[in-house]
Amino acid sequence: MRWTRTTRRRAGATLLAGAALGAMTFGGAVVTGCKARFGNMLSKSDEIRLGQQAARDIERKNRVEDDPAINARMQRIASRVFPHAARDFDAPFTIKVIDSKDVNAFALPGGPIYFYRGLIDLAESDDEIAAVLGHEAAHITRHHSAKQISDAQGKSVLLDILTQGRGGAVQTLAGLGLVLDQLSYSRGDESESDEVGFRYFTAAGYDPAAMASFFRKMKAKSKGSGGPEWLSSHPVTDQRIRRSEQRAAEYTRQRSALR
Ligand SMILES: [Zn+2]
Repeated sequence: MRWTRTTRRRAGATLLAGAALGAMTFGGAVVTGCKARFGNMLSKSDEIRLGQQAARDIERKNRVEDDPAINARMQRIASRVFPHAARDFDAPFTIKVIDSKDVNAFALPGGPIYFYRGLIDLAESDDEIAAVLGHEAAHITRHHSAKQISDAQGKSVLLDILTQGRGGAVQTLAGLGLVLDQLSYSRGDESESDEVGFRYFTAAGYDPAAMASFFRKMKAKSKGSGGPEWLSSHPVTDQRIRRSEQRAAEYTRQRSALR
């Protein structure tokens, strides 16, 4: 889930754009309205390289939590959830905590996942943390960011052709970041991550009801002023909550039928 659209998040996005697009031409105004999907054009090693570049940038700009108790807790949960994600896409998954009260979490291509302290504080149980972790890992295994970068890259190639060559409309890297700022996971990506992520954290033995209960908590919190940053690009709709509840009920029914 890209749980936010803050400038901190953008630091990574700009870097990704620069690395992925190189010196290609890009025109924000032209591509903004383009809806074409190009699929994932990045190789596994591309994804890992881009994700790690962005991770370095994020860790330069944010304080990574060094509280051993929090880190041990997160590693413990991750060590149960990640093996199930790795069956779909064997990336070098990592989990780190950013020392911030923001209620937020996000995943980078190829493995790195970050949770903000604020989200861990809001989640009352390991189960709810595992549910968010499963969702984030699913963004990675389903290559959602990589597809978006590929889209942007594809659009830039299109624009390149339209403007007849690379010398035609070279934009600055700042412009690239600006365009990537407008990218966010689609509703389809979000529901796919809910569904796939559900599989990961329940296979790890966590409470199937935890995803819905965390979503309800996020929704309740969003009623106040501002609300969690996570919600700005990850609206927790009633439909998402309902689907998570149904999935949990189905899962429990199937399990009890097997007994
Ligand atoms: Zn998401």
